[in-house]
Amino acid sequence: MAVIIDGREVAKKIKEELKEKVNELKEKGIYPKLAVIMIGKDKASEIYVRNKSRDCDYVGIEYEEFFLEESITMETLLNLIDELNKRDDIHGILLQSPIPEHLDIRKAFNKIDYRKDVDGFNPINVGKLLIGEDTFIPCTPLGVIKLLEQYNIQIEGKNAVVIGRSNIVGKPLSQYLLNKDATVTVCHSKTKNLKEITSKADILISAVGKPKVITRDMVKENAVIIDVGINRTPDGKIVGDVDYDNLLDKVSYITPVPGGVGQMTRAMLINNIIKAAEGK
Ligand code: NAP
Repeated sequence: MAVIIDGREVAKKIKEELKEKVNELKEKGIYPKLAVIMIGKDKASEIYVRNKSRDCDYVGIEYEEFFLEESITMETLLNLIDELNKRDDIHGILLQSPIPEHLDIRKAFNKIDYRKDVDGFNPINVGKLLIGEDTFIPCTPLGVIKLLEQYNIQIEGKNAVVIGRSNIVGKPLSQYLLNKDATVTVCHSKTKNLKEITSKADILISAVGKPKVITRDMVKENAVIIDVGINRTPDGKIVGDVDYDNLLDKVSYITPVPGGVGQMTRAMLINNIIKAAEGK
């Protein structure tokens, strides 16, 4: 039977360690603070933002929210980011996505000072990840690697297959795995013979966003399965990308959804805010 990777437990442990770090910073007169920008109304984003504020409260990080009207101009958004870049009391800036279509999210990410870019989406930080320099790794990829490390799952030399090539999950995760000396294959919607590739994976990571896209016949015996996907079923349940129940007796490790990667993503945001406040 597979070991169920308990993201909730690992995230809890990490948050306790991070709480200590916040206290140490405060003793030095540094009060870590996050600015969150949210534009318009989006149910899912509202939940994410609420969770982020709870996490900040829990570890003692200060928090300032900027709720902007859906109709704002790009200029207003860029001016706000500029102002936050200049404020010494703000260490991290987070722009909650999605943002309305008339706004250019890339331009906005480019504007966030790379030293306050706790999401790791600014091209300077993306480039640093590519060349293997210390940087802000996007929260979900960082959370996945931390989970593997907490369970002492070897990455070096392993065949890692990542399904999904988004800028926020698939691409940075593939690069980070490569930096950790895995042999990495990236798959996407145009990949031919997906099953042939996934069945060779020692570590299989799905970041697709479709339920049961990974089935029993697609995985190798004793593989490690990391499910990044978050999908809502018609009856309102949250499920991942993986046919979880049918994989349990075939694989060595597996993450549940919920209770896996999602919890780690949240903890890694706290990690990155502290990193920004430390000026590292
Ligand atoms: P995305 O931007 O929609 O990317 C999905 C990727 O999956 C794309 O690269 C797409 O290929 C690929 N794909 C789609 N259908 C496929 C198929 N049948 N076979 C192989 N590849 C396929 O999504 P995302 O933002 O990366 O997020 C992915 C999932 O992770 C979503 O469910 C999201 O909710 C979840 N997520 C979870 C967390 C967390 O903390 N757990 C964080 C972020 C996201 P193309 O590039 O060719 O279109």
